[in-house]
Amino acid sequence: MNRASIDQRVLLWFEKSGRTHLPWQQDPTPYRVWVSEIMLQQTQVATVIPYYEKFMARFATLESLATAPIDDVLSHWSGLGYYARARNLHRCAMLVFRQHNGHMPDTLEDLQALPGIGRSTAGAILSLSQGIPQPILDGNVKRVLARHQAVAGWPGQSKVLKRLWEIAEELTPSQRCGEFNQAMMDLGATLCTRSKPDCPRCPLADDCQGLATGDPTQFPGKKPKQEKPVKSTIMLLIKNESGETLLERRPPSGIWGGLWSLPEVRPGDGNETAETPSVERAIETSSPDIPASVAAAQSVVRFRHTFSHYHLDIDVREMQGAHHKADAVSETSDCVWWDTSQKLPGGIAAPIAKILTKSFGDLL
Ligand code: SF4
Repeated sequence: MNRASIDQRVLLWFEKSGRTHLPWQQDPTPYRVWVSEIMLQQTQVATVIPYYEKFMARFATLESLATAPIDDVLSHWSGLGYYARARNLHRCAMLVFRQHNGHMPDTLEDLQALPGIGRSTAGAILSLSQGIPQPILDGNVKRVLARHQAVAGWPGQSKVLKRLWEIAEELTPSQRCGEFNQAMMDLGATLCTRSKPDCPRCPLADDCQGLATGDPTQFPGKKPKQEKPVKSTIMLLIKNESGETLLERRPPSGIWGGLWSLPEVRPGDGNETAETPSVERAIETSSPDIPASVAAAQSVVRFRHTFSHYHLDIDVREMQGAHHKADAVSETSDCVWWDTSQKLPGGIAAPIAKILTKSFGDLL
């Protein structure tokens, strides 16, 4: 393999065609690069940009993030999905603030010891913000390397991943490492795309082994298909006599952890899932006969939400004016009556926003 030649070709291409105007490329401090890397996990650049700008306007420094309430952080993440990323970001900022005097560590080991930071994210923080020579291996780079070197197999398999890391280490130059890493990500995002690689314009076409096979899209190998299971849930739109709606905060772990949601009843499991511990209490307090009422309540919205590992069929039932005791539900830090003309108490997941918007119009 002609390593020097690959560096030069990639960097030359980057100078002419690379992306240089992304918001996290301006003033690329370790903090700004870190936030962008976490947001970009599982999410497209175009989707991330407005969230990133809003997030950085509110949490301009690591200190402002570390000292913010989690509700504030989650509400700035609302709609972006994969909320464990936001919780880890917040937890991580608090740790760095306390243990590293508010400065992001500058070694791979120390960065990887923090929650939510894996090897590729650590490599990106070091190389993109400080030019420290460390390889990265995000989804785009995996695709470019797997094609260029014709590495067969799915990168989720440890031996395939190990091989890709070896190639990334071998190719990453010690000079201009940040630009090289950015260039490889850009190549994957703009030329070596998933289904239609634009090989005639690619600086690696001359020695691309995947292209030489006649079908570079066979690399990297696909994840073995698995049928997603289907789960179902009933969500309750419970209104009190003042027209307020009951919201409750979900537990910190599990889906939509820490976000505000509607009380939920999982059919057939006696309302006792670990994910919905306060529903029973809310229902029991508001009206002892709600379980019977749930079955009779009018279904107002039904839809399927798909997570990465299962489908969730959501049936929303409205329980209007049925509860003369509804006001008896006392507000706690995890359970509030929300005045629908006011701001929400914190972050909500996109499917819950969809239900509330459908029921009450645009949210504040
Ligand atoms: S030549 Fe084609 S397949 Fe090979 S790295 Fe470039 S765009 Fe990807």
